[in-house]
Amino acid sequence: MRILVCNDDGITAPGITALVAELCNLGRVIVVAPDSERSAASSSLTLAHPLRAREVTFPAPVEKAYAVSGTPADCAKMGLSTLLPEKPDLVVSGINCGPNMCVDIFYSGTVAAAFEGAFRGILSAAVSLDSYSPRADFSVAARWAVRCLKMLVEAKVEPARVYNINVPCVSTTEIKGIKLTRTGTIDYREEYDHRQDPYGRSYYWLKGSPVIVDTAPECDIVAVKAGYVSITPLKPDLTDMTLYAALNGKMVLPE
Ligand code: MN
Repeated sequence: MRILVCNDDGITAPGITALVAELCNLGRVIVVAPDSERSAASSSLTLAHPLRAREVTFPAPVEKAYAVSGTPADCAKMGLSTLLPEKPDLVVSGINCGPNMCVDIFYSGTVAAAFEGAFRGILSAAVSLDSYSPRADFSVAARWAVRCLKMLVEAKVEPARVYNINVPCVSTTEIKGIKLTRTGTIDYREEYDHRQDPYGRSYYWLKGSPVIVDTAPECDIVAVKAGYVSITPLKPDLTDMTLYAALNGKMVLPE
């Protein structure tokens, strides 16, 4: 099996190292990741200047590893169209330092890189750890993520999707199991820290503490906080088909 691995925390981040170390047991891995951290880049692409892809050494037995001077989506796109010798069987993005659940999936570069695979009909997954600590241990999450990926491959699931995997930051014995979930709902409180610079001028720093709105057990964030590894299937088509059907005939549209 050929696997493309991307991330948004950058090619030297501990999360991608731990993930690739496990994935090398599953197949032939090529890493294409940003040369610096590009978190919250979403699906942004670099258009105004050229991209550099530098081949680098990687601390795991990969086939090749490239550090790209672009966004997570640039990395996945370049990997799939140019750097890989053939179409991979799997695109995996992560492991992100910090969860990607609820509305955060819209901002996530980790999830966006995985979507580049789904856009091309390839089975794709985003993996995130529920901890923002740079010293967090990613090895437990890496093993559980690979366990999830093996299950998805063996079950022959719909390939043109992103399977959004979020793992609690606990020891492996404290993980209660794997739960299939839907995207939850949170509300952010106190989103910007208002500060003053040494010259008395205001500046703002995005922070935000999420409050869980939907407490149903099948929500991604509820499952992870309860100690489960969460898998949410995401699709590229954002059309609300229920609303599409309801709107049809409700409005008289000019021809
Ligand atoms: Mn990140």
